[in-house]
Order: sequence, then C-alpha cells, then structure tokens
Amino acid sequence: MGKRYLFTPGPTPVPPEVLAAVGAPVLHHRSPDFLPVYERVLARLRDVCRTENDVLLFGSSGTGAFESAVANLVSPGEPHLVVSAGAFGERWEAMLAAFGADVDVLRYAWGETPDADDLRARLRERDAKAVWLVQSETSTGVVADVRALAAAAKEAGALVVVDAVSSLGAIPCETDAWGLDVVVAGSQKALMCPPGLGLAAVSPAALAATGSAPRFYFDWERTRKGQATLDAPVTLPVSLVCGLDVALGLIAEEGLDAVFDRHIRLGRAARAGAKALGLELFSPDDDRSAVVTAVRTPDGIDATELVVGLRDRFDITIANGHGPLKGKVFRLGHIGWFDVFDVTTQLAAVEIVLAELGAGIERGVAVSAALEAYEHSTTTA
Ligand code: PLP
Repeated sequence: MGKRYLFTPGPTPVPPEVLAAVGAPVLHHRSPDFLPVYERVLARLRDVCRTENDVLLFGSSGTGAFESAVANLVSPGEPHLVVSAGAFGERWEAMLAAFGADVDVLRYAWGETPDADDLRARLRERDAKAVWLVQSETSTGVVADVRALAAAAKEAGALVVVDAVSSLGAIPCETDAWGLDVVVAGSQKALMCPPGLGLAAVSPAALAATGSAPRFYFDWERTRKGQATLDAPVTLPVSLVCGLDVALGLIAEEGLDAVFDRHIRLGRAARAGAKALGLELFSPDDDRSAVVTAVRTPDGIDATELVVGLRDRFDITIANGHGPLKGKVFRLGHIGWFDVFDVTTQLAAVEIVLAELGAGIERGVAVSAALEAYEHSTTTA
C-alpha cells in the first residue's frame, strides 16, 4: 500500500494544507504576493515564541540558528557556560569551542535533569557572558525547567540562550516573561513543516552584545535590518515560508494553550502505554516531558532490532536511542501534527514487534491505557 508513518521527534508529519502551500508555484521573495506572507510569518513567530523581540528567519536547519547565536554573541577567548545533559548540550559546547570561546560546562549524565541551584553555584565560581541551555533535550526526553535556569543565569548578569528546537510550539517557551535573550528553533518539529527553516528570537540586549567572531550569512544585524522592511538580505526558501505561514495559522486556530494541553496529554498517553506494556521509562514520568518519550528496551533486546522491525513490517519510523543510548532505548515522538491515534499506532506496533523479538511484555493493554491517559484535559498548561 505504501502508507508510511513518520513518528520521530523531528522531522515530523506535515499536515496536507501545509504540504499544499509548500507545493504551490514559487513566488518571488520580493514580490507583492509574498511580502504579506513574510510579514505574517514573522508576526506569528513572535506569538509562538511569546515575545515582542525580533524573530530572525534563516534558510537553514535548527543548527544554523544555533550557529547564528554563537557567531553573533562570541568573541574568541570570552567565557561562556553550557548546561549539558545530552547530545544537544554537547552541540552547544562543540560549536562554542569551534568559535574560540572559553567554554565551561555544567555537565550532567545523559538523562539527568539540570538544576538551577547547580547553575547558581557554578556562576558564583566563574563568570560567563552567556549561559547556553537546551529546553527539550531530544536525545533523552528530558525537558529542563528553563524558567528557573534562566532566573539563575540572570541573577549572575549572564545572557540566556535557549535551544528550543524540539520544544517551540509543543510546550511553553515564554521568551519575554522568562527573560530569554535568544531562543533558537527549526521548522521541522512542533511547527509542522518540512526541514529547512531556522529561527532565532533575539532580545535587544543580545543584539547589543554581539562579539567579534566572523560571520556573514548568519549576521543578526543584517537580517534584522532586512526583515524590518521585509527586504530579506538573501533569497529565502519562499516555499517553506509559505508552508510555515499555513502551519502557524493552524496553531493559532487551535490556540497555543490548547496546543500545549494536547502535547501534555500525548505525553501522558505515551508514558501510560509504555508502562502498561511493562517497560521502563528512560525519560522522566512527568508532564513537563511532553516532547518525546524515551523507553528502555527489555533486557536482551536491542532497540535497533525494534526500530528496524517497525520499519520493515509496518513502514513506521520511530527513533532509536541517540549516541550512547543507541540500542538501549527507543523514542516515541509526539510533537506537532499528532493526535492520540498516532501514539496508539506506535504502541500497538511496538507491542507486536517486541513480542516477536521474544520480550516478556504484557499484551493487549497498552492502547487502552494510552487512550485512558489522554482522555482528561490538563489544567497545568
Ligand atoms: N537541538 C535539538 C533539541 C534537536 O532536537 C535538534 C534536532 O534534532 C537540533 C538541536 C538540531 O537541529 P537540526 O537537525 O534542525 O539542525
């Protein structure tokens, strides 16, 4: 039949109306029919980021938006502090080192949750121009308390930079209320678009604190100036911007708080289903972890066999463990254009393949546990 299911925490499935917009005839990036789309996208991105700051848009993946932050904020030799508890904290660290920063790392084991008091203590020992955080560490499923971490960084007078690549549009990221100077994200996760757009919400303080590292394509000031008159400094990926316009319209129509509520309930469903199978969660069993659910495979079963089994048997793509967790955990994605049946489909297929691989799991209960957990609207969003 050729029906394929994409259940990874990025890229994620794209709604048909977004695909239709991406597939429409290409517009010129300075033409009168594109400019209102561009303007609306920039305004809607500010809504999703909950900010009055400029949100700078780049033709790049999320890592390009990372690089914009590093290239604009860093001067060689300057002290910076990364809070790292997984693959994407390590990416900040590697990129800052590549740009010549003097990098300190508040390091946690993969799967641990960063703590604001640890950050406070570290900043008492050593200054940092900026603290570099990951909101949703997609490699582990842990969502950090960015509000508390940002407050600790602010007390020490540091700028706060947040990787919200997998969390923006799935869980609250209150850029202005939490004092986040830079928030970076990409189009291919909870924003329900194909990969190819990176964005950075940048505060006036961050714009005023630019460093001396070389940069051109990702220069914030050049991009900000261009955006101010809708005169992009480069040829934008217009088709993706048209798709993002439709996707952000869908988010606005559902309502951002309702979207957050749905993600909390999807996370609950995934965790309830995995536990009903008798599996052990790797990511925390709490509502904050509403982006991706990481689950340990039963003893003696390699997650790679499970992931390959789902792909070969059912054309279902889920994520293996990342880096050192490869083979040990599998990850159920539930951000963006997901409903509860996308979660139950994953669980039902995992159940079948694990049973075939000889796992001693409890059969026939995961789907109903997930549906039951999804049922009730939250009040915490
Ligand atoms: N940060 C997080 C938390 C991610 O999940 C990802 C992608 O998986 C990235 C950064 C990197 O983004 P990209 O692959 O779009 O460059």
